[in-house]
Amino acid sequence: MIDVHCHLTDEKFKGEIGEIIVKARGAGVKAMVNNAGNLEESRRGVELAEKYEEVWTTVGIHPDEIFNLQFSIYNQLLNLTNHKKVVAVGETGLDFRNGITGEEKERQTELFRWNLELAKEAGLPVVVHCRNAFAEVFEIVESAGITGQMHCFTGSMDWMNKFADAGWYISFGGIITFKKSRELREVVRAVPEDKILIETDAPYLSPEPVRGERNEPANIVRVAEVIAEERGVTLDDVCRFTATNAVRLFSKLKL
Ligand SMILES: [Zn+2]
Repeated sequence: MIDVHCHLTDEKFKGEIGEIIVKARGAGVKAMVNNAGNLEESRRGVELAEKYEEVWTTVGIHPDEIFNLQFSIYNQLLNLTNHKKVVAVGETGLDFRNGITGEEKERQTELFRWNLELAKEAGLPVVVHCRNAFAEVFEIVESAGITGQMHCFTGSMDWMNKFADAGWYISFGGIITFKKSRELREVVRAVPEDKILIETDAPYLSPEPVRGERNEPANIVRVAEVIAEERGVTLDDVCRFTATNAVRLFSKLKL
C-alpha cells in the first residue's frame, strides 16, 4: 500500500518517527508521501525522505498560512523541488470554513495560484486541500492547466466526476470509515479504478475503530478494507490498483 498523504513532521510524532515507520512497514505500507504546509515543514520533509527509504515528500504552502507567508520564499521552495524525493507541490488549496472573511478568501486564492505556479515551473503535480470550495478550486486549476490529487475527498458525486474527468486523482482517508459517511461511500464505489488513491492524513482523521486517537500510516489498511468492501473486490486488488495509480501520479516515486 502507498499512503499518499500524511504529515510525518507533525509534532505529534516527535521522537517516535522511527517506530511509526517500522510499524507502517509491518502493516504492508511500501511508501508514504509526507505533506508539507510551510517552508520549515518542506525542508524537514526532505530530511526525513533522505533518512527513510519509503518516505517521499512534497513542498508547498497550506491555506492556513495566509497571514504569515512571505512570497519571497518561492525560489527556496523551487530549489527543493529538484530533490529526487520531492514528488509534488502541496498541500495547498482553499479552505472556506464557516465564518471565513472575504479578505481571507482572496488571500487563500492568491496563495493557491502561487503554489500552482510553483508546481508548473517544477513540472510536478499538486496536492489539493478543498473545503466548501469545489467550484472555486475547479475553476482555478482548470485555468492553470494543472492536475494532481484531491486529498481527503469529501465532495459530491458530481464533483468527483468533474475532477476525475479532468484527469484528477481522488484520494480517500479515514472519513469513509465513519458511520455517517454513507453518501461518500457511494462516491467511493463510483470513482474510476485508475483514479482512486488511499491516504491517512496522519496524525489527523483516524479511521474507525480508532477514531479520535492519533492516526498513523499503519492505519491505511482500514481505509483500503472499506474500499474493498464497497467495491466488492479483494484487499489485494485495492492495494494493487491504488499503488499503480500513486506511481502514475507521482512519477518520481519509485517502489
Ligand atoms: Zn493533510
